[in-house]
Amino acid sequence: MPIEKGSNKETRGLIIIFTGDGKGKTTAALGTALRAVGFNFKVLMIQFVKGKYPYGEHTSVKRLTPHFEIIIKGKGYYKLPGDNTPEEEHKRAAHEGLALVRERMHSGDYHLIILDEINIAIHTGLLQVEEVLDLLKEKPPSLHLILTGRNAHPELIAKADLVTEMKEIKHPFKEGVLAQKGIDF
Ligand code: ATP
Ligand code: MG
Repeated sequence: MPIEKGSNKETRGLIIIFTGDGKGKTTAALGTALRAVGFNFKVLMIQFVKGKYPYGEHTSVKRLTPHFEIIIKGKGYYKLPGDNTPEEEHKRAAHEGLALVRERMHSGDYHLIILDEINIAIHTGLLQVEEVLDLLKEKPPSLHLILTGRNAHPELIAKADLVTEMKEIKHPFKEGVLAQKGIDF
């Protein structure tokens, strides 16, 4: 079925933030993408900070080509144990991710663009909040954007139309249970 173009005068493109310390931010964005693809909309997810781990979504999204694409623009978790990547490389990857969002945003091809973990990129100083606020100012009116990651910046929250905070009530990690395939990755 043909892809429906993103530029539609009747669509009010929303700025959506999924933040908080509980599980479900990235998966909520993936769920929204699945819904959009059902209408033959085109969706792009750019993953900031995350590296090339074997996430299930990378494989399943390939089955939805050309409706849904995920592009990794991270070098793995920054300043967490096991991170041997120089700060400059992390910063370059984050800026490449932002430039790619800008380019695709203006292509008019997309209904929804997801900036996965961008809140982390800002919180850890890889990106400045002003750079992201500038990007939001350029958003075409009909394009929906989803920004995920804990510690969303207050200025981004102020600009958003929809903000949901995932609040941790329980997480098995706290009981020493490791990440589960198909649930956590
Ligand atoms: P998911 O990708 O499962 O929707 P998320 O995007 O809300 O999770 P992130 O902060 O991106 O959460 O963390 C990614 C990984 O950390 C996932 O494997 C997730 O299950 C796990 N995680 C999320 N919240 C918690 C938590 N409160 N304690 C421990 N691990 C967590
Ligand atoms: Mg996430």
